[in-house]
Amino acid sequence: MTRGLTLLGATGSIGANTLDVLARHPDRYEVFALTAHRAIDALLALCLRHAPRYAVLSGLPEDQGLRRRFADAGCKARLLFGARALEEVAADRDCNVVMAAIVGAAGLAPSLAAARAGKRLLLANKEALVMAGPLFMRTVREHGATLLPIDSEHNAVFQCMPPAAPKPGAEAVRRIVLTASGGPFRATPIERLPQVTPEEACAHPNWVMGRKISVDSATMMNKGLEVIEAHWLFDVPPDRIEVLIHAQSIVHSLVEFADGSVIAQLSNPDMRVPIAHALGFPDRIASGATPLDLAAIGQLSFARPDLQRFPCLGLAYAALREGGTAPAVLNAANEVAVAAFLDGKLRYTAIPQVIEQALRGASAPRADDLETVLEADRSARRIAADLVALQMGKAA
Ligand code: NAD
Ligand code: MG
Repeated sequence: MTRGLTLLGATGSIGANTLDVLARHPDRYEVFALTAHRAIDALLALCLRHAPRYAVLSGLPEDQGLRRRFADAGCKARLLFGARALEEVAADRDCNVVMAAIVGAAGLAPSLAAARAGKRLLLANKEALVMAGPLFMRTVREHGATLLPIDSEHNAVFQCMPPAAPKPGAEAVRRIVLTASGGPFRATPIERLPQVTPEEACAHPNWVMGRKISVDSATMMNKGLEVIEAHWLFDVPPDRIEVLIHAQSIVHSLVEFADGSVIAQLSNPDMRVPIAHALGFPDRIASGATPLDLAAIGQLSFARPDLQRFPCLGLAYAALREGGTAPAVLNAANEVAVAAFLDGKLRYTAIPQVIEQALRGASAPRADDLETVLEADRSARRIAADLVALQMGKAA
């Protein structure tokens, strides 16, 4: 059966990998909608290649001129504008599956809309779960949505869990171990970190990704967000979620069971593997990834992360333990600090300082509804922006 698929964030790195896998299986899916924020030309090119029914430019207001331009170029898709259109194409009855691949907090509302409409939801947008974990999981449960993780670590954990019960009883699972590459600064002398540049931070040793997640990988905030994501997805408490540095990025994560068995998922580092897993589930379909040659790799190494080098990881555990809106504050302050770093306005080592101070400045004990979460997000952004301005003043 062919199913309609909405791809939120089609012009990004996960978007491109998803379209690559989809193109290998034209019989399985029909592209229902493709969305981009403001990347007009990139979206038009994708529409001409994949012929969706709808195209969305969420960061632009209604524009008849653009509609004509798309039509004149031969694009048959109906072009929609504004953030609300994301929720519409995610919840439409002709769409069965939604790939949530928008970066950052902007992905929360459309991912929730897909969950509320009971869709099969392929979630790459980890920030949505970090901000609103309890609300998100409740919405999935209450509306009968199916949630499949795309983040490679969580997809690995999902694959390691017994098929009949992806969330076995607390006693059955002793521990989840998330692996991390350690990013480009794994071995950089700590005293050089204040001077590292955005280009160095985005040069990830094993993965090619969007700029925001690349910086998050360098600071290991990415792993911190993933610890929170794993907590909500698999219902495992923070002290039973461990992080190990694994420089080769071959073992994507591991699950230890009560009897001492440890099950891991391995592949070459290629996001098409978890994407194909989720697009095919429960079938197995080709992803295009190069087969794993363990003999050629030779050695796999594992080490505990150093929290002095990676303070963001410690901050994420602290926010998860604090609960309520603390993870939303952590996420918002991180987005502001990372954007300032990428703009050359903030030193790399000031990123955790901004987040720590924002966490001290604001968070509420409960985060049960969307408005509370969004208000925590907005206020943390204001606080973080002030802190960035203060740091700029100090640097000048
Ligand atoms: P990216 O920056 O390459 O692409 C982001 C996409 O979101 C683009 O299509 C962009 O147009 C859209 N977008 C940006 N801001 C928006 C806004 N305010 N409103 C609506 N749309 C907006 O990002 P990416 O690397 O593809 O990451 C996407 C998500 O997947 C992130 O949450 C990231 O953490 C997660 N993820 C990515 C990878 C990876 O390998 N890239 C791996 C695991 C998880
Ligand atoms: Mg990941």
